Amino acid sequence: MSRLLFFLAVAMFVVWLVRQRLGINRKPSAPPPPAPSSASSKHMVACLHCHVHVPMHDAVRGVRGHYCSEAHRQLAEDR
Ligand SMILES: [Zn+2]
Repeated sequence: MSRLLFFLAVAMFVVWLVRQRLGINRKPSAPPPPAPSSASSKHMVACLHCHVHVPMHDAVRGVRGHYCSEAHRQLAEDR
């Protein structure tokens, strides 16, 4: 009889352990906040020609604004 009680205690402990582990991953259903951009180079700019967003450091600078590529800067005749 004491073996049965011991087994029950172990079983309850295992169940409790599993619930604790599941509880770690269970969070309120809020979406994760957008990761704060660590570097200012992550700043996005929109191409004036096709409106695609590109990182600032990858953008081609024109007189009027930024472009995703040299080709679009030329297409926009921004020199
Ligand atoms: Zn573009």
